[in-house]
Amino acid sequence: MVDTLLKVDNLKKYFPVTQGIFQNVIGHIKAVESVSFQVNSGKTLGLVGESGCGKTTTGNLIMGLEKPTSGNIYFKEKNILLMKKSEKKELCCELQMIFQDPFGSLHPRMNVEKIVSEPIYVNKLYTKNIIKEKVCEILELVGLKSDHLNRYPHEFSGGQRQRIGIARALSLKPKLLIADEPVSALDVSIQAQVINLLIELQEKLNLSYLFISHDLSVIEHVSDEVAVMYLGKIVEYGNCSNIFSNPKHPYTKALLSAIPITTPGKIKNRILLKGDVPSPLKPPKGCNFHTRCAEYKKGICDSISPELIKTGENHKVACLLHS
Ligand code: SF4
Repeated sequence: MVDTLLKVDNLKKYFPVTQGIFQNVIGHIKAVESVSFQVNSGKTLGLVGESGCGKTTTGNLIMGLEKPTSGNIYFKEKNILLMKKSEKKELCCELQMIFQDPFGSLHPRMNVEKIVSEPIYVNKLYTKNIIKEKVCEILELVGLKSDHLNRYPHEFSGGQRQRIGIARALSLKPKLLIADEPVSALDVSIQAQVINLLIELQEKLNLSYLFISHDLSVIEHVSDEVAVMYLGKIVEYGNCSNIFSNPKHPYTKALLSAIPITTPGKIKNRILLKGDVPSPLKPPKGCNFHTRCAEYKKGICDSISPELIKTGENHKVACLLHS
């Protein structure tokens, strides 16, 4: 039986746009629009899309860094938006985040020992006399050494700093990690090391990940399931291999066609997306992808907004022509 750890149900986040000295609300930026998905225990859901599609806002809503406009978020079947303070404290241990910027997310005046042990002290997870020992164990898990305990973030490379960020996230023994573009600020060779570390940790500690990235090749490597986002909505959702071998939504097809080919001599037909991503302040009528879609049908795509519909086993698509 599938054990669902996180369930996001019809989540919306609208940011008000104000004008004038009275800050009159003149519209809303629909950053997240009716998003639903789930992350199963020990598995990875990859959330992918261009910048500004709402994937980071979705992660922030789950972490409680933003308040949703409506919708529900369940962790182990409990609605986290209705939790009491004491329950939220427990949740904070089970749900942790890995940030994109490995330098900006670490306090420059704290050494590694302080950075990794602070959450343990705050949450009183271990008695004082064994905290240092536990910190050393965590550092070893992420490929760092106890010699690094007294060093500061600026003394490390980008990849090592991200390992410190991962160690801090692991310090409370979480069940689910939200990794927001965890490798996009790193060099390609270091990206591979950090991704492999995350996969290893998942196997060792039975972790679940919500892996947010704009990079489809990274998403394909780490994910069990994938949700493709465009302008605040999920347009394709399902099993990773289904989506990568048989994409249905024209947006997913365009994104996949942009992945560089590693086999010499093989040629891929690149689908070029027209124009820029429309403003979420005034999304297009009908299907909000119709202004850029290569398969656009006049009279249908510009008047009806497609729902995410099941098209096969563990595969859903929001397209009027493909669902
Ligand atoms: Fe393209 Fe129309 Fe499908 Fe939207 S509904 S993705 S515009 S074909």
